[in-house]
Amino acid sequence: MKPASFEYLRPASLEEALQYLADLGEDAKIIAGGQSLIPVLNMRLSTPKYLIDIGRVEGLSYIREEDGYLAIGALTRHVELEQSPLVAKHCPLLLEAVKWIGHAQIRQRGTVGGSIAHADPSAELPCVLAALRGEIVIAHADGEETLAAEEFFLTYLLTSLQPDQMIKEVRFPVISNAAGYAFTEVARRHGDFALVEVAAVVELNENQEIALARLAAGGANPVPCVLESVEDFLIGKAADNSLLEEAGEMASESVDPDGDLHGSASYRRSLVKTLTKRALQTAIQRAGGISR
Ligand SMILES: Cc1cc2nc3c(=O)[nH]c(=O)nc-3n(C[C@H](O)[C@H](O)[C@H](O)COP(=O)(O)OP(=O)(O)OC[C@H]3O[C@@H](n4cnc5c(N)ncnc54)[C@H](O)[C@@H]3O)c2cc1C
Repeated sequence: MKPASFEYLRPASLEEALQYLADLGEDAKIIAGGQSLIPVLNMRLSTPKYLIDIGRVEGLSYIREEDGYLAIGALTRHVELEQSPLVAKHCPLLLEAVKWIGHAQIRQRGTVGGSIAHADPSAELPCVLAALRGEIVIAHADGEETLAAEEFFLTYLLTSLQPDQMIKEVRFPVISNAAGYAFTEVARRHGDFALVEVAAVVELNENQEIALARLAAGGANPVPCVLESVEDFLIGKAADNSLLEEAGEMASESVDPDGDLHGSASYRRSLVKTLTKRALQTAIQRAGGISR
């Protein structure tokens, strides 16, 4: 199918893009990499009167280390995360996760801002952002605001972004060198969206007990979901295989997945259990714990 007709606008600056959004409101839609929006337009699930192509907006493609965060401009492509020494050094969890996104062609075009704004609950970047308690910098014609990931993702493909707002930057907290991390997922075929995915970060104390745990699952709830009860349970515990078993069980009980064509709710729940165990095991090993 072809999209419904629209007027194509191509701002060169952030200010110009924000002014278009302020003037056109709900009649306009931003396009960045187009990897999610073009299919939506082609299927006429969305029929905006105006398409604002931000692809040539100056100054929105960058990766910087700032104040304990990796600050990533909205137009940064997935492939740029894969190739960034800063990401490899300060947020290897993000590097591990981004490789699961679609195929190389999609990662060449898709952007960080687009992935966060699209808010697919099975997408990798929202899951990592949720696990790390990252932030989203939102710009509008009158200024900027910063939201925590948990305030931003509302439900399937829905965020708190207003029609006159756009994502300017996404902030992923830096992971300590002492931490172990892991991102793991199951998809039906290579390159497909995850059925379920789990992101984990673990730090151990000198007694090999868990001192910090960050855990989130995607594809298991309408939004990427922080497994907070499991994180709390892990703190102070010695990392061993029975702990992993209990943590996996708790994780599967704390999610409420929907079933669909690709997998039943109970299958997704059992994946949460298995992937939580797997992610925690790898993260703990990388933090220097559990014998291999
Ligand atoms: C075959 C295929 C497989 C894929 N597999 C995966 C996968 O496994 N995992 C995964 O995470 N993704 C996957 N994707 C999607 C891909 O990651 C997209 O790149 C991403 O979801 C959206 O980024 P984009 O830049 O292409 O956004 P676009 O498609 O241009 O836009 C997506 C949405 O975000 C909005 N938007 C874009 N930028 C901004 C901004 N700065 N501020 C506010 N709103 C904005 C748009 O208005 C639109 O609603 C796949 C895509 C395809 C085609």
